[in-house]
Amino acid sequence: MSLPQSEVKRLSKESLTQADIEYFKDKYGKKFVKALRAVEEGRIIRYDFSPSESATWIAKGRSRQYLIIPEIYCTCRSFYQEVVISRETNMCYHLLAQRIAKIRGEFKVQKSTDAERRKLYVEWRRTD
Ligand SMILES: [Zn+2]
Repeated sequence: MSLPQSEVKRLSKESLTQADIEYFKDKYGKKFVKALRAVEEGRIIRYDFSPSESATWIAKGRSRQYLIIPEIYCTCRSFYQEVVISRETNMCYHLLAQRIAKIRGEFKVQKSTDAERRKLYVEWRRTD
């Protein structure tokens, strides 16, 4: 899943107008509304691990955190069901939220260590 350049440009504006929001709602429906809300609520997090300097994107859901491979994959149930199995769509709202957060620079940064990373990955990789 990747957004057209025109949409990236639109999302990078300092503030989104009502027309922008309507445009994205028309195109992405409820997914956009949920994605924008997740961004506004600070639920998109980039973990920066040292000393490897690797980064991992996470979306905080209600009960757990989802691992996001930007534009490719998310560990949530709807990604598995709607993208992988039924192929109804090419993204879940977490993937869209990560794109919006990255483009707008509206995400949290969590510093951590590579030792901690191993433990976190056990939880993040769960797909149930
Ligand atoms: Zn997801």
